[in-house]
Amino acid sequence: MPTPTYYAATAPRLGFPALSGSTDEVEVAVLGGGFAGLAAACGLQERGIASVAVLEAHTIGHGASGRNGGFVFGGFSRDATDLARDLGLPQAREFYACSRDAVALIRSRIERHAIDCEREEGGALLLNWFRHSARAERQLHRQARWLREHFGVAWDEIDAAQVRQWLDTDRYGGALLERDAFHFHPLKYALGLARVIEQAGGRVHEHSAVTALDRSPGGFVLRTAEGATLRAAQVVVAGGAYLEMLPPLTGARLPIATYVIATEPLPAQLQPIHTTAALYDNRFAFDYYRALQDRRLLWGGRISIHEREPAHIAQLLRADMLKVFPQLAAVRIEHAWGGLMSYARHKMPQIGRLAPGLWFAQAFGGHGVAPTTAAGEWLAEAISGRTDLPAALHRYGLTPVFGQAGLLAAQASYSWAELRDALKERLPG
Ligand SMILES: Cc1cc2nc3c(=O)[nH]c(=O)nc-3n(C[C@H](O)[C@H](O)[C@H](O)COP(=O)(O)OP(=O)(O)OC[C@H]3O[C@@H](n4cnc5c(N)ncnc54)[C@H](O)[C@@H]3O)c2cc1C
Repeated sequence: MPTPTYYAATAPRLGFPALSGSTDEVEVAVLGGGFAGLAAACGLQERGIASVAVLEAHTIGHGASGRNGGFVFGGFSRDATDLARDLGLPQAREFYACSRDAVALIRSRIERHAIDCEREEGGALLLNWFRHSARAERQLHRQARWLREHFGVAWDEIDAAQVRQWLDTDRYGGALLERDAFHFHPLKYALGLARVIEQAGGRVHEHSAVTALDRSPGGFVLRTAEGATLRAAQVVVAGGAYLEMLPPLTGARLPIATYVIATEPLPAQLQPIHTTAALYDNRFAFDYYRALQDRRLLWGGRISIHEREPAHIAQLLRADMLKVFPQLAAVRIEHAWGGLMSYARHKMPQIGRLAPGLWFAQAFGGHGVAPTTAAGEWLAEAISGRTDLPAALHRYGLTPVFGQAGLLAAQASYSWAELRDALKERLPG
């Protein structure tokens, strides 16, 4: 299996220069050119702090942000009901609303800055995989009612007949449609934000892996692998699952892999999706997929502690895709890749301050496009001295994950959840 990610193959190459020299100084340096780092930098500039520099070890969007499913929707990796249990309803409602505000902010940044990122409005459709289970249908109904009653969020209930008009498969039962959601080309969006940051007077440096972060009078000195240095009054660390320094951060999140493939462009008679919604199902390790503007099908799924080779990913995900759309058996898989998500044990983002002037945002899990944007806003408010970080964030701290043992425990719990789903599929009820 050849090929870089579909996104890298279809995004423009902007090429931001590596950091060089040792005399430069900025107000805020951001480590990591993913959505969390870029959103923090944009948020700061929108609050009048133009002097920011984003340092990215590889290229902008190299991590999860430039290789994800492209779903932009409200909520967090942690369930809304768990959030309410943790925080109490009023605070949970407020917190959840921030993720929905972030969806709106992404839309408005795309429009304001004319970022060409193939945005497709149409919502996100949560499909019932357990089509023979009346209990699973009732559960979807309860989920919609709960969100409406407690969070004031309207998800439409869609019956199985409508689902079959939208998708050429009888794999599913009914579904819930979150209308206020969209999907896009995440790498084009990340590159668009990087361009905006530069145009607003900030700096973006690729191939600039930060290897040391030292205190200095008035702030910090960041040192890159190539020996360049940058002084900054404050620093935001947003290295996601790819961060390899700062043990208080790396020791509090697990790097977890998930995978994506893209087919060749499909002839009209084979196109199985007749909706612009992004699609996923209600299993623990769900499929997530969508039709791309160039008529390909982008298909993602599985979570694992293992990084896999593209050929193996293509084989696994093709089999998953054929369970839903067997009519695509002859279709070529042209791209296959994996990406790492960072997960805290509590499945919520970890956002805070390690020391005065040293901020962090990580552990957005598999539901991070909107939450990273919310994090950028919270950090920009706090760093610019306007509002403290939301109190709810303190509930979700840097809980240790216990390294390799934690990874093995995570894999065991994933396998158990997958087994439960497989049983649920077979048992009536
Ligand atoms: C395959 C996949 C599919 C997903 N699908 C979706 C989806 O459809 N919708 C959704 O909401 N979420 C999805 N997610 C999750 C979402 O992509 C992430 O939660 C989010 O992008 C995390 O952003 P981030 O900025 O924290 O991390 P990243 O995007 O991983 O960015 C971190 C960056 O920091 C850089 N870095 C690390 N260390 C250093 C260093 N020392 N110096 C300089 N730079 C450094 C890395 O190179 C990397 O580019 C998916 C994730 C994956 C992997």
